[in-house]
Amino acid sequence: MTTTVLTLNSGSSSLKFSVFAEATGSRLKLQLRGDATDLGGDTRLRVENGARELIRERSVPGKSRAERQAAALDLVLDTVSTEAGGQLFSVVGHRVVHGGDIFMRPVGIDADTLTSIRELSPLAPLHQPYAVAAIETIMQRYTKLPQIACFDTAFHQTQSDTARRYGLPRELHDAGIKRYGFHGLSYEFVARALPALAGPVADRRVIIAHLGNGASLCALNGGQSVATTMGFTPLDGLIMGTRCGALDPGVVLHLLRDGTRTVEQVEALLYDQSGLLGVSGISSDMRELQASTDKNAVEAVDLFCDSVARGIGAMAAALSGVDALVFTGGIGENSAPLRERICRACEWLGVRVDAIANAAGRACITNGASKVSAWVVPTREDEMIARHALAYIAR
Ligand code: ADP
Repeated sequence: MTTTVLTLNSGSSSLKFSVFAEATGSRLKLQLRGDATDLGGDTRLRVENGARELIRERSVPGKSRAERQAAALDLVLDTVSTEAGGQLFSVVGHRVVHGGDIFMRPVGIDADTLTSIRELSPLAPLHQPYAVAAIETIMQRYTKLPQIACFDTAFHQTQSDTARRYGLPRELHDAGIKRYGFHGLSYEFVARALPALAGPVADRRVIIAHLGNGASLCALNGGQSVATTMGFTPLDGLIMGTRCGALDPGVVLHLLRDGTRTVEQVEALLYDQSGLLGVSGISSDMRELQASTDKNAVEAVDLFCDSVARGIGAMAAALSGVDALVFTGGIGENSAPLRERICRACEWLGVRVDAIANAAGRACITNGASKVSAWVVPTREDEMIARHALAYIAR
């Protein structure tokens, strides 16, 4: 029987899934992929087959976000088993955002690991509680099915203690208040894919820009993470779709002290109402902002580019220079104008964008005179999860 893996990426506003079958060699065959995004009032679950053709679209019932999240998972599980003629997949791989200092690699989930994952939930409130809920549902429904947790933080464990340290008293660091970094599954996928595209430069000083709704940068040397812009939580670093990014902690103290907002309201402000959405007052969606002539939308895009360019400078400093720059994520993969702007802001580092190659969506977007080559590498976090899950059950 073919080994198949269901991957789940559960967040507050989306549930994404894929099904892969193990094919010959190290190949994976995509069988199904789908998502229920923006779990608002009229959420729909869309399912595509391996050829990326839409094969099903269903509305997701439920009065609250939590109910729709649970209903979306039920629909995914039913859809996957119906499509496979009633057969059950062999393993489930979950994206789990925060592994703290506990989880350095993918783990099989049992009651103890689930407790630890649940305890880390306050550190990633947009994702972790939803991954926990999905794990619990599947545990109850399929008691014998192996479930594997793949952590976004794990890729950054190669960073030095100093790179992970905040300027706080040592006992807080020892208690776990440190930089963890996120988007690790994406960085791992891109780092593995880069040598085939870019050759030996992939092994030198590389900065990967993962620019999606969530956005961060990672500095890699020899394929290993040396520094990253996100920290203790996925709130730090670049400004994002709805997250504020780096902020003077004095602002948070001020917001809490002035007594007009509860802790939960400040949390919602920083995670859900800030970033591109907060600055533009229009949308968190980069495509929409780029299409707008509203001055606040223009400023939001300017601020995003500025934040990425400054971050690249910081990552280059962590590496004492840079040899290659890689764009990935929804914005990094699809927005040629933003890539060009960011590359031009990095001319001082030796980046010379090839506007035609960039606009044409080629893999390499710099010209022959560029000291630093720049690349576009589509990320596939689901494939990375599937590989980890299959490797885990094959041990
Ligand atoms: P997530 O972090 O939720 O996985 P994605 O990586 O899918 O998000 O990125 C979503 C972002 O990518 C949105 O802001 C969307 O507008 C942006 N995006 C997708 N395609 C384009 C495009 N052609 N031009 C500009 N932005 C785009």
